[in-house]
Amino acid sequence: MDRLIAGYRKFRATTWPQERDRYEELASKGQKPETLVVSCSDSRVDPQTIFSAGPGELFVVRNVAALVPKYEPDAHYHGTSAALEFGVRVLKVRRIVVLGHAHCGGVQAMVEGAPDLAKDFVEPWIGIAKELLTTKPAPAHCDKLVHFETETVRLTLENLLSFPWINDAVKSGTLGLHGFRFDVSTGVLGLLEGEGFVSVD
Ligand SMILES: [Zn+2]
Repeated sequence: MDRLIAGYRKFRATTWPQERDRYEELASKGQKPETLVVSCSDSRVDPQTIFSAGPGELFVVRNVAALVPKYEPDAHYHGTSAALEFGVRVLKVRRIVVLGHAHCGGVQAMVEGAPDLAKDFVEPWIGIAKELLTTKPAPAHCDKLVHFETETVRLTLENLLSFPWINDAVKSGTLGLHGFRFDVSTGVLGLLEGEGFVSVD
């Protein structure tokens, strides 16, 4: 716990005085983020850090492998879909960004099977993307995990369109969908364009 408490004290001493006005304004007026980020829970891929975002800028949904299931309004516990509903319909974000990354343990589990101790929830969750193993097999010449990290971002973007209110907003031009991949080892961000990711200058 010491590391967390020390980190909090640093925040209070340095960040809070700088951002205080912003926090107070957000507290009184409410949040109005323009961007919703679907990111992996991976500790190395923090959207706030990567996009140098301040308080109130990003509405973030994090889960294993940055996946979005298809639209299934039923009585199950749809945490990711609930966050999408709130962000898109209530907060009216202007864009959804799907942030995949290199060395993704979730994608690796999808390709190679979940670890033995992660069968209860991780296994069915990554099943969302399992169809890719047959619908988009990795070409012989390319890195299998990089290929599926790319295709998983693409599938998530497709699944977002299965939500009728996302589809409508995209069609009317009030909502944009974008895919990114963060390379943990180089710190370079790629934007999904056509066949693959193009490094952002
Ligand atoms: Zn990951």
